[in-house]
Amino acid sequence: MEKSWKSRENLNKNELAKLEKDGLEILKELDALAKKEYSEIDPMDIERLKWAGIYTQRPKNGKFLIRVKLPSGKLNTSQAKVIAGISKDYGEDSIQITIRQCIQIHNLTLQDMPDIFQRLHEAHLTSVEGCGDVPRNVLGNPLAGVDPEELFDTTEVVEQIVEELVGNPEFSNLPRKYKISVSANPGDCGFAQINDLAFVPAILRSKTGTEQGFHIYVGGGLSKEPHLAQKLPFFIRKEEAVAVARGVGIIFREYGYRENRGHCRLKYLLDDWGVDAFAKKLNEIAGPFTTGGRTIARKWNRGVFHGIHRQKQEGLFYAGLLIPSGSMEASDLVALAELSEKYGDGQLRTTNSQNIVILNIPEQKRNEFRKEPLVKKYTIKPDTFTGNAASCTGNQYCSFAPIETKKRLKSIVEAMNERFPELKEPFRINLTGCVHACAHPQLADIGLTGGRAKENGEAVDVFTIRIGGALGKEAGFAEVLAGRVSEYHIIDAIGEMIAYYVEHREGKELFYQYVRRTGAEQFQKIVDKYALAA
Ligand code: SF4
Repeated sequence: MEKSWKSRENLNKNELAKLEKDGLEILKELDALAKKEYSEIDPMDIERLKWAGIYTQRPKNGKFLIRVKLPSGKLNTSQAKVIAGISKDYGEDSIQITIRQCIQIHNLTLQDMPDIFQRLHEAHLTSVEGCGDVPRNVLGNPLAGVDPEELFDTTEVVEQIVEELVGNPEFSNLPRKYKISVSANPGDCGFAQINDLAFVPAILRSKTGTEQGFHIYVGGGLSKEPHLAQKLPFFIRKEEAVAVARGVGIIFREYGYRENRGHCRLKYLLDDWGVDAFAKKLNEIAGPFTTGGRTIARKWNRGVFHGIHRQKQEGLFYAGLLIPSGSMEASDLVALAELSEKYGDGQLRTTNSQNIVILNIPEQKRNEFRKEPLVKKYTIKPDTFTGNAASCTGNQYCSFAPIETKKRLKSIVEAMNERFPELKEPFRINLTGCVHACAHPQLADIGLTGGRAKENGEAVDVFTIRIGGALGKEAGFAEVLAGRVSEYHIIDAIGEMIAYYVEHREGKELFYQYVRRTGAEQFQKIVDKYALAA
């Protein structure tokens, strides 16, 4: 494919490497790389391994993670067992559900990869383009097809987009990652506005009747400079979704920035072009599209589906189980797969809240299901704070991380469960290890970003605090409070903020709603009491 950008000035070093050899080429070289020592491998080939879904982990000594992509979180029992088998044989018996519905296996070596790829292939699974400057896992409604609230089933749309984009050399050299979300659930379980392209449910009324389809958002993303995606004016029919995904991919590929690596995401192009120019170009490339329609939206459901609930199919239920921080032993994934065979029809889903849903449980089996020991371990009825919290990988595996995250978050949410047992409304505390914001601190009621600093001469973990984030109908990023609070005071600082909210809120007002109504001043005063001296 002609690379129209190849003679641009100031291309960054990743761009030069991609022009030299496309990331997808690495797939043909995996067997040869598996025979080499880590130190012998060209660092740019290590970078290209991302196109195979293989990523270096901390410490950078030859251990890798593999990210298995599960579009819309779809997983069956035999696939779950294959993933668990890989983890048992090569990955120290643990798996990690990610915030894009993938499953990661850590502690792998390149020598393990040929067998791992063979097993994934046989199970109709893939890690291809799990990482890298490519279309990432297509996020979707984990309940697609069974969701009583969805406007329509989005399974086919997700499958078509994956089929068209993934592994396609037309889209294997983008300026940065390309994140797509597709959901027809009105509670925004696809976290639409933090994606590069998102499809949300919409209806269009005309003289001939009412049509169901999508509205679309473009240019969202978090990290250091978070942007909420902007709505384009089109009403997109289901059969037009692939053209839209291609069209946005083409705009990104041809016009996206490739110079300063920190300024290459689609959001920066949208900033400079504006929504009207972007919509015009998309219409030219992939349209023409109809305009108008009405978005179907209600309060954000945070991608959380705990409990046992009715499906749209008469007499069938789904069960949402809490997987704390998305981490579990591989043997437990096998056991969950067996539960889904015993009580359902062997279909599971991963969620972007890092949990698991088991589908198609008949009404008469619900009570037996509840009594299973595994359903006690991975509860369907978590405490308020535990059930809504999220953390990133942290310094256990991530080379960017200055701090440990999962145990820290556990200690914080358990303390809050204990202090506020009467609080039943959802409350999201997210802890992310660094500014890359993988655990979405900007979307939390209270979002924490970790760092290291000295307090009284001692090097300690410290946290920047944000408050008041949400998506869905009330999408808005959390506001950053000034100052950083150390590990010794963070529980008391958060506890005091929540106590203040509980005392002053109106009715069942959620924390982010309270913050937006009253402002951040009171919470800043609380943080000031605990913050490190400037
Ligand atoms: Fe690593 Fe930072 Fe992402 Fe956490 S937020 S997983 S520390 S890059």
